[in-house]
Amino acid sequence: MSRPTAIDPPDCGCTECIIGEYKPLAYADDGQIAALIRGELRNNTGLTFTIHVTYELEPGQSLPAAMPTEVTARAGDRTWTFDPYLLGFRAERRS
Ligand SMILES: [Zn+2]
Repeated sequence: MSRPTAIDPPDCGCTECIIGEYKPLAYADDGQIAALIRGELRNNTGLTFTIHVTYELEPGQSLPAAMPTEVTARAGDRTWTFDPYLLGFRAERRS
């Protein structure tokens, strides 16, 4: 399976995008955006990704022991919502 190594600007049509080495942002799927955020794909988009992490604290719980419930990423006019597990947050809780 060939994988892109970078995400390019939204409507990029460069040679690398045509041959599939890079992926234009407009055509990247959620898994590829997650890989970009994890640092496995280069961010060649020219855009800043803003990451919002949501935690829910149950009664008696503190932030160090809490797991994120949702992660949202924004770049340009697009928003993606991820299961935190996809971005490397683990299910283990610190005590
Ligand atoms: Zn390109």
